[in-house]
Amino acid sequence: MNQRNREEVQGCGHMQSLLQRQAQGELKGIAKAYTRYHVATCPACRVAIEHMHEQIDANAPENTVSSTNG
Ligand SMILES: [Zn+2]
Repeated sequence: MNQRNREEVQGCGHMQSLLQRQAQGELKGIAKAYTRYHVATCPACRVAIEHMHEQIDANAPENTVSSTNG
């Protein structure tokens, strides 16, 4: 059986915190370069960080466009 993961996609375990920080723009220097390089070469982490970007974007208070729910 094919069971799909509908949880958030996650990349490599050791990259989790780095991916989070990278998505939030908190990484600098070597760590940033390392993460960018890893993401460029690792499809799983690439997807993961894209999802993180979306999450952050959705949670950004400035971007409160289209919200007629309530
Ligand atoms: Zn990875």
